[in-house]
Amino acid sequence: MNLSHHPCFNPGSHRRFGRIHLPVAPRCNVQCKFCNRRFDCVNESRPGVTSALLSPAQALDYLEKVMARRPEIRVVGIAGPGDPFANADATLATFDLVRRRFPDVMLCVATNGLELLPHIEALHRLAVSHVTLTVNTIDPAIGAQVYSWMRVGKHVVRAEKAAALLLERQIAAIRALKARDMIVKINAIILPGINDHHIVAIAERMGQLGVDLFNSMPYHPSPGSALAHLQPPAAAQVAAIRAAAGRHVPQMAHCTRCRADAVGLLGEAPSAELTDLLQRCGH
Ligand code: SF4
Ligand code: SF4
Repeated sequence: MNLSHHPCFNPGSHRRFGRIHLPVAPRCNVQCKFCNRRFDCVNESRPGVTSALLSPAQALDYLEKVMARRPEIRVVGIAGPGDPFANADATLATFDLVRRRFPDVMLCVATNGLELLPHIEALHRLAVSHVTLTVNTIDPAIGAQVYSWMRVGKHVVRAEKAAALLLERQIAAIRALKARDMIVKINAIILPGINDHHIVAIAERMGQLGVDLFNSMPYHPSPGSALAHLQPPAAAQVAAIRAAAGRHVPQMAHCTRCRADAVGLLGEAPSAELTDLLQRCGH
């Protein structure tokens, strides 16, 4: 396993090595106002979207078939279409099956971080090397504009109370990941008029926590979401934010907003053959 071959974390690798996302995590414990997971279109390229769902056993079957066709794949990730740790049993069972069958592959997970902390020891045991958290704010007042609600145990929490709890859990999880030398990336979605003035402050705080990489992602409208009326930020604003945030944490600038069932090289259009294979393996 060569960690420098991860295409998302190393710009030099993204044209040579690929990744596959296994869509085993349908439920989410958070409602982000910019996300509408009901909308699925095979031409749509963004997180939260998949053409099929897989059980852990189906995911291994699908992975074996893809690996036989696409030897350039080095990373197996779980990134939805909901949150991996709102589906923790399926996520960990899938990683366990994959780790036994492919001992050398890199494992990667992307989460909102709300339920991550209790599972970090298990992830570490399975040699999951790369973890991405989406941190859109470090200010609960801004968080109340970003999140509609969160499910915490049997309760639904809203507004600033929810955003403060999420931040507390994200920070505890990042500390636990870095204490185990796991590689941590932060995604921060630039939401014009909501947190665009605040991304650099997030990067500064994340830099203090020792994260490895920071992805300032321009907001992309999701039809039907509560924030569908927002316009994406201008390219010049994104570049200025990345330059300023880069003083605190190295920036990822080659993100291609992967779907929850992405497969192949970053930015590669979904292949009809692999989409068909996924749908035949899934349910
Ligand atoms: Fe990991 Fe995200 Fe890259 Fe998928 S797109 S392999 S979850 S960093
Ligand atoms: Fe959508 Fe992810 Fe937010 Fe859940 S955490 S609502 S899947 S963007």
